[in-house]
Amino acid sequence: MSCKEFDLIKKYFIRSDSFSNDLKTGIGDDAAILSIPVGHDVAISVDTLVAGIHFYADSCPNDLGYKALAVNLSDMAAMGAKPWCVTLALTLPEANENWLEHFAAGFFELADQYGVVLVGGDTTRGPLSICVQIQGLLPEAQALKRSGASVGDAIYVTGTLGDAALALKLSATAQSSDFLSVRLHRPQPRVSEGQQLLTIANSAIDISDGLFADLSHILEASGVGAAIELPLLPISRAAREQAGLIDCWQSALSGGDDYELCFTVAEDKKSELQASAIDCKQIGVIETEPGLRCYSEGGGLFVPDSKGYEHFQSD
Ligand code: ADP
Ligand code: MG
Repeated sequence: MSCKEFDLIKKYFIRSDSFSNDLKTGIGDDAAILSIPVGHDVAISVDTLVAGIHFYADSCPNDLGYKALAVNLSDMAAMGAKPWCVTLALTLPEANENWLEHFAAGFFELADQYGVVLVGGDTTRGPLSICVQIQGLLPEAQALKRSGASVGDAIYVTGTLGDAALALKLSATAQSSDFLSVRLHRPQPRVSEGQQLLTIANSAIDISDGLFADLSHILEASGVGAAIELPLLPISRAAREQAGLIDCWQSALSGGDDYELCFTVAEDKKSELQASAIDCKQIGVIETEPGLRCYSEGGGLFVPDSKGYEHFQSD
């Protein structure tokens, strides 16, 4: 790495609070060194955002910095983990300081909100892409997994679904409301909800590819099936003002980019969930028969247009 590159890293990514108690060596050496707090396991996840695939190359860099971290925090939320530290691999077409400044501001705004420390990364030249790797802490031998759902569990989702997908669809016609575009560009990861659910839920996933695909991952991992009632889906008022009910359901089922949590809870834990402050709604139940069945009003089976975003779809 040239001096110029490290000067940029120093200017935008090393901060006075870049050192936590667990961090023995931070940015500036060949690797960061951390002590794992006693009694904890480490949850590790990585997500890449590529220009032209996940975002437009001319997107607001502040939003990009925010969202690149938000999608990783959402994975920690889905495991019930407390976000701990991150590394950041940036591939940039040029060293545009204005872009870097705004990107770093969006990134650290969210990092500070969750007390996450940036401990290292990589900076290279090439087509714009942003890769964040995150480590979170879990109490030893505890985690929210996809594989824990049991027949009879109630299925819940946090927040509202389909807003981001609708914002994307409507942005082509410049109709999207502020609420919907905030949901697309600055999703609020459900980090505290995930940690609270550690002792309540049997299974969990974050909804990044649409409810249908992501709930199906829980069902497959757990060897069960499910029925959900579409009239129970939490749809925001802003979404209903912009689209018909069927379009809202399609967006919720297969739109993606929600970063809400979908989780399952046994009957005897429901009161504990209700006593928590978690904003969530029951949408269905886990059943023995494999597969996911979606029912509309009157009990008719509803088949979504698409089952969610897939990068390597053959058709
Ligand atoms: P190496 O060549 O040994 O892989 P680099 O020269 O790429 O290391 O990086 C120097 C230091 O700067 C390392 O500590 C690395 O973690 C850190 N770093 C590089 N890019 C970033 C970035 N985008 N954000 C945070 N830290 C970074
Ligand atoms: Mg090295």
